[in-house]
Amino acid sequence: MNHASWINIVYIISCVLFAFGLKFLGSPATARQGNWMSALGMLLAVLATLTAKEIIGFQWIILGGTIGASLGAFVAMRAAMTQMPEMVALLHGFGGLASVFVDWSAYQNHTPDTVVVITALYLSILIGGVTFTGSLVAWAKLSERLPGKPLLFQGQQLVNIAVLAGVLLLAVPFYMTPAYHPVFLWILALSLALGVLLVIPIGGADMPVVISVLNSYSGLVACTTGFVINNVLLIVVGALVGANGIILSYIMCKAMNRSLNNVLFGAFAARKKKTEGTAKGEVKPISPEDAFLILESARSVVITPGYGLAVAQAQHAVRELGELLEKNGADVKYAIHPVAGRMPGHMNVLLAEANVPYDQLVEMDHINPLMDTVDVAIVIGANDTVNPAALHDKTSPIYGMPIIETFKAKTVFVIKRSMAAGFAGIENELFYYDNTRMIFGDAKDIAQKLVAEFKSAV
Ligand code: NDP
Repeated sequence: MNHASWINIVYIISCVLFAFGLKFLGSPATARQGNWMSALGMLLAVLATLTAKEIIGFQWIILGGTIGASLGAFVAMRAAMTQMPEMVALLHGFGGLASVFVDWSAYQNHTPDTVVVITALYLSILIGGVTFTGSLVAWAKLSERLPGKPLLFQGQQLVNIAVLAGVLLLAVPFYMTPAYHPVFLWILALSLALGVLLVIPIGGADMPVVISVLNSYSGLVACTTGFVINNVLLIVVGALVGANGIILSYIMCKAMNRSLNNVLFGAFAARKKKTEGTAKGEVKPISPEDAFLILESARSVVITPGYGLAVAQAQHAVRELGELLEKNGADVKYAIHPVAGRMPGHMNVLLAEANVPYDQLVEMDHINPLMDTVDVAIVIGANDTVNPAALHDKTSPIYGMPIIETFKAKTVFVIKRSMAAGFAGIENELFYYDNTRMIFGDAKDIAQKLVAEFKSAV
C-alpha cells in the first residue's frame, strides 16, 4: 500500500469519528464525548495531511496555523455565551473563505480539465463567496455593527436577480475556456456581492436561522472543494456539515412556525401586520417572599427558562433553587423549548454549564402532557415560547408555533423585569391568566432571593 492510501485510511477513521461525534452531540449527556471525538477526528486528519508528499515546506503552515489558532483561542475565550451565534457566523464565513483560497490555489496550479472538476470549482467559488460575505453581514447584524432591521433599497430585487443571473451566465464561458482567469475572478466578485445582497434584507432577529443555512453552505463548499483537490475527507465531512446545517435550519423554522422561504425572502413579501395580542385581564404581581410560601408547599415544579435567563446569567442561581426545591420534597424538571433563547440548544448549554442533571431536562413534547399535574411552573426569562396565543389566536404572528404549556399548571410564576414583549414583539396573554403571578425583576436577582428565602427557612 502506498503512502496516499494510508492517508485515506486515516481519513476514513476521522470520518467515522465525525459521524459518531455528531451522533453523540445529539444528547446533552454525551455531548462532551461527541465534541472530543470530533476533535480527535480532526487532529488525526490534520496530522495525516501534514505527512502528504505534496507539502513542499512547513514554514507557511506553521505561521498560518499559529496565527489562526491563537486568534481562534483568543476570540473563543472572550466570547460570552450570548455572543455565540455571532462567533459561529464568523467561523462559517472564514471556512467559506478558506475553501475559496484552496480553490484559487488549485486553479493557479492546474487548469481544470474535466467537467466534474470545472463544475466543482465553479460551485465552490460561488458558494464560498456567498458564505464568506453573507456570514460577515450576519455577524455584523448580530453584533449590532450593522442595523438589525432589514436593509431595503429601491430596485433591490432587480439588482439581486441581475447579480444572480450574471453569476449563473458566467458558468458558460467558464466551461468553454476554464483557463481564462478574468472569468474566474468575475464569478468570485459577483458571488461575494451576492452574499451581501442576500443577507442585508433579512432582519437581525432571523440571523440565527440564516447562520444555520450558511453553516450548511460552508459544508457544501468544503464538499465541492474536496472534488476540486480530490480529497475524500473534505467531500465526506463537507456533506455531513451541509446536511446537518439544513436539518437544523428546518428544525428551527418548524419550531418558530416559519418557512425557510419566509425567513430568507420574507422582507420582500408584504409584511404581515403584527397584532397587539388578545391579552386582557389584570396583572397580578407577587413578591419573592410570597412566592416562596407557595413554592414551599409545591410537590412538583417545572422551571421553564428562556432568553432572559441567558441575559441575566441566572443559570447557577436557578440550579441552586432547583436543588433546594428538591430537598424540600418537590419533583423538579426543566422544560426545554427547541427555540428558547437565541440559538439552538441555548438553554441546554446554559443549564449544563450550571451542572443541572441531564435527566431533569425535559423536551417540550414530553413535558406538555404532564403540565396539568404540575403545582408550580416557574417561567424565567421566557416569553414567546410560553404564549398561549400561539395555540388559538389565528391573527397572532406566532400562531401555530408549539409552546411549553405552562398555563396548564396550577400556579404559574413569571419572572421578568417588566411587561415588555419578547422576540416576536407581541403581548403575552399568559401574564393575565388567573393562575399567573408576575415576579418582576432581573432573573438572577429573583432566583437568588428565592434561594435566600429557602435557606433562611431551615
Ligand atoms: P423571548 O425573546 O420571547 O423573551 C425573553 C424575555 O426575557 C423578554 O420578554 C424579557 O422581558 C425577558 N428578559 C430579558 N432580560 C431579562 C433579565 N435580565 N431578567 C429577566 N428577564 C429578562 O424569549 P423566549 O426564549 O421565550 O423565546 C425565544 C424567541 O426567540 C422565540 O420567539 C424564538 O422564535 C426566537 N428565536 C429563537 C432562536 C433559537 O435558535 N433559539 C433563533 C431565532 C429566534 P423583560 O425585558 O421584561 O425582562
